[in-house]
Amino acid sequence: MIDKFINYKSTRGSSPILKFNEVIFEGLAVDGGLYVPEKWPVLTYEQIYSFKDKSYNEIAHEVISVFLDESISSQDLAKIINDSYSTFTNSEITPLRKLDQNQFLLELFHGPTFAFKDLAMQFIGNIMNLYLSRNKRQINILGATSGDTGAAAIEGFKNVDNVNIFILHPHNKISKVQKKFMTTVESENVYNIAIKGTFDDCQNIIKTVFSDLEFKKNNNLTAINSINWARIMCQTVYYFYAMSRLDATDKSVMFSVPTGNFGDILAGYISFKMGLKISRLNIATNENDILTRTINTGIHDLRDVKTTSSPSIDIQVSSNFERLLFDMTNSAEFVKEQMSNLKSNRKYELSKEIVKKIQNVFSSHSVSQQEVKEIIHNCFKDYNVIIDPHTAVGLGSANKCEERFDIKVTLATAHPAKFNDTVSEIVGTDDFIPLKVRDMMELDDNYVILDNDVMMIKKFLEDKIK
Ligand SMILES: *Cc1c(COP(=O)(O)O)cnc(C)c1O
Repeated sequence: MIDKFINYKSTRGSSPILKFNEVIFEGLAVDGGLYVPEKWPVLTYEQIYSFKDKSYNEIAHEVISVFLDESISSQDLAKIINDSYSTFTNSEITPLRKLDQNQFLLELFHGPTFAFKDLAMQFIGNIMNLYLSRNKRQINILGATSGDTGAAAIEGFKNVDNVNIFILHPHNKISKVQKKFMTTVESENVYNIAIKGTFDDCQNIIKTVFSDLEFKKNNNLTAINSINWARIMCQTVYYFYAMSRLDATDKSVMFSVPTGNFGDILAGYISFKMGLKISRLNIATNENDILTRTINTGIHDLRDVKTTSSPSIDIQVSSNFERLLFDMTNSAEFVKEQMSNLKSNRKYELSKEIVKKIQNVFSSHSVSQQEVKEIIHNCFKDYNVIIDPHTAVGLGSANKCEERFDIKVTLATAHPAKFNDTVSEIVGTDDFIPLKVRDMMELDDNYVILDNDVMMIKKFLEDKIK
């Protein structure tokens, strides 16, 4: 039988094959792996070339439809896309901002919660709503956030019937504005939980809860972390969009992406596999530079998480990297072995061949907090553009690449207002903070504080779900 639609399989090789309408409700696969398409759909040169005359929503429709199945009609998809991006305040959705002849920012922060996570979460809220209301199903979403995912998810699901949403964030380790975006949403179905620990602790709790399959089933739990396939899928769109607006035929283009969980940059890699002519993907890290060390030395070893001025990428465990390892080796056995090494020794080591293969597409440089300050300062001085600390990591990291490219695009992953304490001190003004954020800061927070303890979280969930 020839399959007309793409199926999804696990990176660890022993989970059921799923269709899109199933994979969207999966977090981790039952074997502990992550779902990936069985093959990469490739768009033709003509199709990609035609994007220059199409809107963001039209491009999204073409790119996303190759990953779906018969459960979503073309009209359904168009409506979901239009509803999702009508909440954005910029008509281009993800506009490119030119800094100079060969440097651009791809602004991904014009959605309701001011960070790139909205691009996927608005879409997922709408598409899940469609599936759930069709099937009269009820689900409970459980997620961990280093600050931005939670807000985007809450915003995407706050009005969705048949859904409760529980979001864990590391207590006192996210910015004030990030916290307000999450904890001031007034909705019966939203639960914010501050965990006394780091983001990695929060991710661990989620992984442990989801690995209890009985608990997961009894409580209809669903994940929307960056391991959810549909998020990655939505994020491929803006790479196509950016290239369509760059007029870059015959030019070399590098994308620099501030990276934590490896979701955003993985989407860039997938767009490359789908036929987009990207010359280099640069993994930008802060002092939590595990991926920079991995790309440059092959040694992937966990250290302690450092708290920095770019908290959304203060991560050691970068979940989606597993998807890249799988794609580079096409071996579930290999992935299983490395993940088991990581679990028992906090470390694995990649062979020279694999490192070389990764380096054919990726580079990586890390940026210190001191450098972040200088970059924000210089960007304001030279271009009169105020950027957030994550975007600064992206720009600074791009500047460290020795290789020459005709065009460098840095993904501007958050609005500076989200990190206004850091940014206003550097640029000497806070007039970049929109009224929406100023008003929000006056509202009361609504959240509970719990210990870093899986049993307590499970009990909390059971009490609320009933
Ligand atoms: C989530 C986030 C990142 C990191 O994205 P990953 O997909 O986890 O690599 C970077 N910047 C900001 C502002 C974010 O919210």
